Amino acid sequence: MLTRYIKVNSLNLEPEKIEETAKILKEGGLVAFPTETVYGLGADAFNPQAVRNIFKAKGRPQDNPLIIHIWSNEQLDKLVKNIPQKAHVLMNNFWPGPLTVVLPKKEGVMSEATSGLDTVGVRMPDHPVALKLFQRSGVAVAAPSANISGKPSPTGGLHVLKDLAGKIDVVLDGGSAKVGVESTVVDCTGEIPVILRPGGVTKEEMEEVVGEVLLDPALHRKTFKPKSPGMKYSHYAPDGIMYLVVGKSIKSLAEKLADISMKRYQAGYKVALLAFEDTLALIGEKPYIKLSLGSRDNLSITAAKIYGLLRQCDRLKIDFIIAEGCPRKGMGLAVMNRLEKASGGKIIRLQD
Ligand code: AMP
Ligand code: MG
Repeated sequence: MLTRYIKVNSLNLEPEKIEETAKILKEGGLVAFPTETVYGLGADAFNPQAVRNIFKAKGRPQDNPLIIHIWSNEQLDKLVKNIPQKAHVLMNNFWPGPLTVVLPKKEGVMSEATSGLDTVGVRMPDHPVALKLFQRSGVAVAAPSANISGKPSPTGGLHVLKDLAGKIDVVLDGGSAKVGVESTVVDCTGEIPVILRPGGVTKEEMEEVVGEVLLDPALHRKTFKPKSPGMKYSHYAPDGIMYLVVGKSIKSLAEKLADISMKRYQAGYKVALLAFEDTLALIGEKPYIKLSLGSRDNLSITAAKIYGLLRQCDRLKIDFIIAEGCPRKGMGLAVMNRLEKASGGKIIRLQD
């Protein structure tokens, strides 16, 4: 299959390009599109063959449901049975935006998209190209992230092309994703909202508008089965072996990160150290590659660059990635979730 790569200006929206792509989407094609979180790989959510093609193109496990993307609240009627009060509050406050709300699904929503669950995850992304594309296609769009399953998510059109050229119809490139990590998935089927996957909207931000919000226990204890099927799979993994080092003291972190990196480097491996600016400053000049996670005081920037850094390591054919962790507060929760998954759980915890 020939994949068309179409660059589109997010400001003037070049209507003929959007129109052309919307037609492909409507007719059952696979279209990668920009959102504020990461790039999505979309198909008409009510076309079973098109939805099956998404799983095929990505190599995605069948039991990992897709998020259904909409451009207007009116579309919810066709997708969900009822909307509890707290879900309304969350949607009113964070849509369009990086929040996926899991609700009881309406009959007629295909099990291909929801992997047979009786719930459906719905989101309205905050990106003019995505919203215009959906609106012009007239369909609700089932879409996971537009990467090969298990690899780091795509935050630019060229990332998508690298992973999926030849497997999908169109890559609509609208520039780099500004949030950089996926949406927060929140289960609103019970009394208290439960975060199934941390993401672009923080727990603290949600609590401000809706009161108590819980975390799915599977997010911090391996013994629990996650309610979000996708969370059990290996994800975001770079080609190299990755270690994540966590601790409180920046001095101890710097020493440990430098020590592990140097030993691997001296053994002849290609090593990349991923750490915060102040840690890198303590470590100083080294012969291996050092990449900055930004400032630990602004983890939104870390989130925006994390997948790009992991993909850069793949381009550089890095054998070992040694990464620094951060506290699980605010955006730190989503950043740590991605780093933990990317490292396949190889975490070194420092005592002080
Ligand atoms: P991705 O689109 O690749 O970012 O993955 C979508 C995420 O949303 C996965 O972790 C899914 O398991 C999760 N998800 C989608 N629909 C549901 C649902 N109905 N219930 C729970 N999790 C869901
Ligand atoms: Mg994904």
